[in-house]
Amino acid sequence: MSEASTSVEANEVSQRFYCKKCDIKCDTHSGYKAHIVEIHHTAYCSPCNKGFTRKSSLKQHLKTRWHTQDDMYTFDSFIVSISRWIPNKGEEFTTMYDPDDIYNYVNIVKDEQDIVGHVPRQFSSSFNALLRAGGCINVKVTKEKPIYTNFNGLLVHCTYCITGKLIFIENIKNAL
Ligand SMILES: [Zn+2]
Ligand SMILES: [Zn+2]
Repeated sequence: MSEASTSVEANEVSQRFYCKKCDIKCDTHSGYKAHIVEIHHTAYCSPCNKGFTRKSSLKQHLKTRWHTQDDMYTFDSFIVSISRWIPNKGEEFTTMYDPDDIYNYVNIVKDEQDIVGHVPRQFSSSFNALLRAGGCINVKVTKEKPIYTNFNGLLVHCTYCITGKLIFIENIKNAL
């Protein structure tokens, strides 16, 4: 066997363990497979942050209680208010998201159209995910007197009442 053909063979072997997408060469087949599973899941569940090598596994996963069981959670926090709104104790609102907004803002809305404020930024993405999945967030003002802050403007005391699938509620609890 000539040296040239040996080098071609070696090259072919390394091509087999080569990931074009990442420009990465793996030494072994198992290493290559681990890379594909870890980096290039064929299916992915974003609320769980979990990858699946087969679409059917994801399908099974979506039947687990995390994705099928409804849950409810109530906690006290704030409405980040826009200043022209004067809060009344006991006032109730719904929440809405803008599907085109890249910052995942969740607005607090009066009579389904008037925006009075938005949810604190640390909840934005987990609230947004719950709403997108068909969940529901209601807000009730608990104190009339707002808090003035330098960075967030006016904060109004409120209670958030959240309903949705278990995994989304769990993600919101983790964001608190
Ligand atoms: Zn890769
Ligand atoms: Zn999941």
